[in-house]
Amino acid sequence: MCAQIRTMAATKNEDVRVAISQNRITDSGLRMTAPRRQLIEILAESERPLSVEDLSQRSKGKFDLVTIYRNLEVFRELGIVEVILLENGKNLFELTGEHDHSHHIVCRHCLKAERIEFCMGGELERYASSRGFSNLSHTIEVFGECPDCETKG
Ligand SMILES: [Zn+2]
Ligand SMILES: [Zn+2]
Repeated sequence: MCAQIRTMAATKNEDVRVAISQNRITDSGLRMTAPRRQLIEILAESERPLSVEDLSQRSKGKFDLVTIYRNLEVFRELGIVEVILLENGKNLFELTGEHDHSHHIVCRHCLKAERIEFCMGGELERYASSRGFSNLSHTIEVFGECPDCETKG
């Protein structure tokens, strides 16, 4: 695929994701405040999932961490963002894609994350179900060193 087409597709996808997120907020009866709009735009423009600190930096310190946390919590409840739990207990946030559920490969050095477009959690949930558990969900992330970090040594 030529690079230009890829860039155009990315921009379009970005706009669509912003629009979907905005709809989810207004549909739930909440207001689209300036911080909410801006945080969604920053997440949409980002090439990788972001931490709360990244969001604070990219909003040029306009919002304090508490404001960012509160809004991310609202986004999570509305299914606007997916949360990636890192090995160190911190979280990364990214706008939900086409599918409400996905897994990632995360580089533990540069925190670059790639979506895994398939889910193998069904088997785990079937097992949990056979153990009498109901109301199941799962979170699976894969951590490693990305090719860029590996070559840097
Ligand atoms: Zn890396
Ligand atoms: Zn899954």
